[in-house]
Amino acid sequence: MPDIIRMLPESVANQIAAGEVVQRPASAVKELLENTIDAGATEVRLIIKDAGKTLIQVTDNGCGMSERDARMCFERHATSKIQTAHDLFSIRTLGFRGEALASIASVAQVELKTKKTGDEIGTQLIIEGSEVKSHSPVNTSTGTSIQVKNLFFNVPARRNFLKSNTSELKYILEEFYRVALVHPDVSFTMFNQDKVMFQLHSANLRQRIVSLFGMNYNQRLIPVEQQTTMVNISGFVGKPEFAKKTRGEQYFFANGRFIRNPYLHHAVEAAFQELIPRDSYASYFLYLELDPGNIDVNIHPTKTEINFTDSKSIYAILQAAVRQALGKFNLTTVIDFEQEQSMDIPPMKPGQEIYQPQIKVNPEYNPFEKKKEFQPSLRFENPGKFTGGFIEREKFTQFSHQEANIPAAPLSDLIDKLSEGSAQGLGLEFGSTSHELFQVANSFIVTETPKGLLIIDQQAAHERILYEELLDSGSTDNALRSKIIPETMSFSPDDAILLKDLLEDFTTLGFEISEFGNNDFVLQSVPHDLGHTDFHGAVEQVLESIKTELPGKNAAKSQMIAKALARSTAVKRGKILKKEEMEDLHSRLFRCRIPEHSPYGKPVFFVLSFEELNKKFKS
Ligand code: ADP
Ligand code: MG
Repeated sequence: MPDIIRMLPESVANQIAAGEVVQRPASAVKELLENTIDAGATEVRLIIKDAGKTLIQVTDNGCGMSERDARMCFERHATSKIQTAHDLFSIRTLGFRGEALASIASVAQVELKTKKTGDEIGTQLIIEGSEVKSHSPVNTSTGTSIQVKNLFFNVPARRNFLKSNTSELKYILEEFYRVALVHPDVSFTMFNQDKVMFQLHSANLRQRIVSLFGMNYNQRLIPVEQQTTMVNISGFVGKPEFAKKTRGEQYFFANGRFIRNPYLHHAVEAAFQELIPRDSYASYFLYLELDPGNIDVNIHPTKTEINFTDSKSIYAILQAAVRQALGKFNLTTVIDFEQEQSMDIPPMKPGQEIYQPQIKVNPEYNPFEKKKEFQPSLRFENPGKFTGGFIEREKFTQFSHQEANIPAAPLSDLIDKLSEGSAQGLGLEFGSTSHELFQVANSFIVTETPKGLLIIDQQAAHERILYEELLDSGSTDNALRSKIIPETMSFSPDDAILLKDLLEDFTTLGFEISEFGNNDFVLQSVPHDLGHTDFHGAVEQVLESIKTELPGKNAAKSQMIAKALARSTAVKRGKILKKEEMEDLHSRLFRCRIPEHSPYGKPVFFVLSFEELNKKFKS
């Protein structure tokens, strides 16, 4: 038998490696931006077209490359950053594998222009699918400019696998934030479709965060600072009252590198515990500096996961640092002396009187004391369209699902009804009752029907009702709207992109939302069915659920929005209902087309038949 093992051609080996390093345009953006930082650039420009599918261009004023290095940088495992295995334990640069440019050049058309500091003339190189097409001297300024065109032009399967431009652009922005957040001293300009999307001047960290995420972040940030022999921690956490319904801005960096670390995330969450409601997320921008010998960055090709030698201690230090920062913030107002003077002081009007600022402090506050029980009452006070009820605020009573101890009864005796396609049947059967409705465990509505005892989960029921009513009012030409006092809602740039994409769908559902520029939106009308609620929170929750919706599920966007809105605004378990509210909920439920399931597929009610009851008492 002849020998069959062969070496793969270099271009094929590169493409295989590219599978790991370059999964999407955002991965190329990450690698190119990181190279600019490693090259000591102070000014970086990123140009994106069609979410990076047609063009990614990164230009820097860093150290540049010699003619030989320009050629070498596209070879696999060619790097100027480490020389021996030993260097792996003292990595200070972002790159070190020497794989990125080789991988990118194997799956795109790449043009490089570079000139080393002190050189007269630069080098231009054009490469397509690892093949050098041209190599010539060029007149260019010091630094490097790399254009990556038509990514995956030679790997159609990968190109087809890419998501919509909106999604891919979001990934790109995320990588851009991560680099920009670690290097506030470097100025970055980002162009998207020929328009400037970000112009970030060299600044301090607070200013950088504000220019990335919006002016209102300025008042939201609490500084964190902790120096120990093992690790130095610095950065900011968001004030608890600005915790958002979406995960939003949560960033950890270790030695200047963005990292993902659920364990450390937990440390921060634990520090916030009891200060924010369970369904909200605090933002944080936390920077860890530690001896490179105590971390191992070599465990994952995209390098966002790293190992710490002593993660337990780091957990404890981090948690204490955040707690301390939160504690301090409650006793003192935070003054940032580095902050630009002009930042958030509105101009004085002529004749305006000046008052001494009033600072409220609670001298009793002790951040380390355990609170009795967190009562997220305000979050749950959502009135629906219930007649007369729900406007009044009742105390939220904690209620746990398990406590109800209700046997999970199948909807078996309803299935026949369903197969007749007869929600109407259900409506007739259960929708009107001469019997009294009453609430148990502040969560379930119970009544007698000819078939047996009907038990309704109030939350699931209200979700179903709101869902159908929202979709129905949307399907009529004139969605029923209630004008509200216009409310400005600010979002992070990536959420703003997502929302822009969904505006039409929101309109169909009865919202009137208009763009206000700068990632701000103004809400003018809301669907009549929703009554008063925290709409900003509700929209945030909608965006979050759209982000996490499984890909491939092709539900219409308006349905997804209605579903998420129903969930975020429905009355929750634990809410005491008045008699009229129960009656309203009950009758509206059985006017629904599919009353038996919540839009998320949870059972809404079940019937304990009299036969079953009888059986229970037979000896
Ligand atoms: P790595 O960053 O892991 O070394 P890359 O493939 O990203 O690998 O880059 C290979 C080499 O090319 C780098 O080590 C560096 O010497 C050089 N290089 C890449 N980008 C730049 C740049 N923007 N400026 C100067 N040199 C660069
Ligand atoms: Mg690199």
